[in-house]
Amino acid sequence: MRPDREERIDEVLDRLNRKRSEECGKMQCKVCWYVYDPDQGCEMFEIEPGTAFNDLPDYFTCPNCGSAKTMFIPFYEEDES
Ligand SMILES: [Zn+2]
Repeated sequence: MRPDREERIDEVLDRLNRKRSEECGKMQCKVCWYVYDPDQGCEMFEIEPGTAFNDLPDYFTCPNCGSAKTMFIPFYEEDES
């Protein structure tokens, strides 16, 4: 079994990055750097663990500083390495 063509390493990394952000979907408040983790949910808004950021109710705001959902940006843990 042979692949039709070899993937370049940057294509592989790009694909993995996209996959990871879709799967884990952590989002960070760009005002106070609070990170919303879908695996944990948010007790303050009674968000069940496993709730994707996109599925958060409209009344959800940053539990730390009160910023709207639109102030959140995708969070990548590997940025520093
Ligand atoms: Zn915040």
